[in-house]
Amino acid sequence: MLEVIALEKRFGETDVLKSIDLTVHAGELVFVIGPSGSGKSTMLRCCNRLEEPTSGAIMVDNERITDITRHDLDRMRLKVGMVFQGFHLYPHMSVLKNVMLAQVKALKRSKPEAEARAMDMLDQVGLAHKAAAMPAELSGGQQQRVAIARALALDPKVMLFDEPTSALDPELVGSVLRVMKQLREAGMTMVVVSHEMEFAREAADRVVFMDGGYVVEQGTPEEIFGAPKSDRLKSFLSRVS
Ligand code: ADP
Ligand code: MG
Repeated sequence: MLEVIALEKRFGETDVLKSIDLTVHAGELVFVIGPSGSGKSTMLRCCNRLEEPTSGAIMVDNERITDITRHDLDRMRLKVGMVFQGFHLYPHMSVLKNVMLAQVKALKRSKPEAEARAMDMLDQVGLAHKAAAMPAELSGGQQQRVAIARALALDPKVMLFDEPTSALDPELVGSVLRVMKQLREAGMTMVVVSHEMEFAREAADRVVFMDGGYVVEQGTPEEIFGAPKSDRLKSFLSRVS
């Protein structure tokens, strides 16, 4: 469903991604871990071309998204849902309007159709009763679940999560992880950058360890957490756990 092939990214003189290869099959949840500055966010951002790769290729659902023109970029972005650490909801719009907006603008859905889909998605994240609320009236965990509903409403092929719970108070983290787990059970293809190692152990099909712009090691949660091979991974795990 998602294939990253020899991806490189330089910012000026800084070589951030040196040569990243990553394959994510349909329905897989791939967890990405690694020290701060190792290039995790840059890699995710390249996957929907929020960053332009310096070289390499990215395939989404059998389409080479690194080749497509500006013109097709918006259509391509719809295939790749993204959820960030900050929720980026529109503060002056109700929860419902937030989940409807891109459906109407980008997918050209009618308002009733977009509203029905929005209510379905809000129901899925347990927030149908907050449809009329403004974002500021919600907790951080609820806002993040609205952001997930908004991304899902566009029928993405892949969902990318960049530290979705890092900005949340500890007691709100669980509700967001539960929604992600449900999504996985529903068969969504997901790439998750996160420090929630417990969640990785429970929910990930595969864990990828990045360091210094490379994928240093990858394997099942049992392999990565139970029998790390490289010194860099061992040292990372001893620091985070
Ligand atoms: P991570 O998400 O693993 O913490 P990032 O992908 O955010 O890592 O960053 C990797 C490296 O790329 C860091 O050294 C960061 O300073 C650098 N970097 C990220 N974005 C930019 C940018 N727009 N311009 C210059 N350097 C950047
Ligand atoms: Mg990051």
